[in-house]
Formats: sequence, structure tokens, C-alpha cells
Amino acid sequence: MKVTLRKVGKTPLDFDVKSDEMTFKGYLQYHSGKLILLHADLSGSVNTECSKCGEEFKLSLDEKVEFFISDGIYEGDDIDLDVVESFDSLADLDELLISEIELIKSDYHSCKNCN
Ligand SMILES: [Zn+2]
Repeated sequence: MKVTLRKVGKTPLDFDVKSDEMTFKGYLQYHSGKLILLHADLSGSVNTECSKCGEEFKLSLDEKVEFFISDGIYEGDDIDLDVVESFDSLADLDELLISEIELIKSDYHSCKNCN
């Protein structure tokens, strides 16, 4: 699902995308300047490796994700949330979901046996 950033206004625009085992459901809302707020729940499970023993295991997730998408390079002041820059004026939600999953996988996780 791709959303043209210019078309996102003050009224939240709902989205709901899925990968194999994850759901990314939330809304996009115009913030100010070039910034669009993305607010979503990320839930489901991912296969990841235990940082201690290296075993693959299924990690259950249910977390809130919130960041800004900038339509072009963001040159404003520091703000509280992360800013993801878009260079084609689109928010590619499937791609954002994949990068969120990759980010989670790169975190430190340990399996049941190592906890
Ligand atoms: Zn382990």
C-alpha cells in the first residue's frame, strides 16, 4: 500500500498492511511543514535469533510505533520523534513494515531457555 504524502490531511488516514505474520495498522496524519505523522500498532510474531544461544525462535510483538515521514529532506529542528525521509513523495507502508521488522530483529532478544 502506497500513500501519496501530499494527500494526507488533518483527518487521519487509516491503513492496515500485513506481512506473513505481522499486522501494521494505524493512521497517517498531516503534522506541519513537510511532516506527516505515522502512528500504528505493530503486532504478530517474527522469527528471530536468540542473542545468547543463536537458536531461532518466535518473538511475539505488540507495540506502538510512532514517527514522522518527511516529504523530502527534513531540515527542521530536532523533534521528539524519528523522521523517515521519503524521496518520492510516497509513504510505502509495506516497505515501512519490513524496515520496522528488521529493526526489531536487530535488537537484543533472548529465547525462553536463556531468560
Ligand atoms: Zn537462547
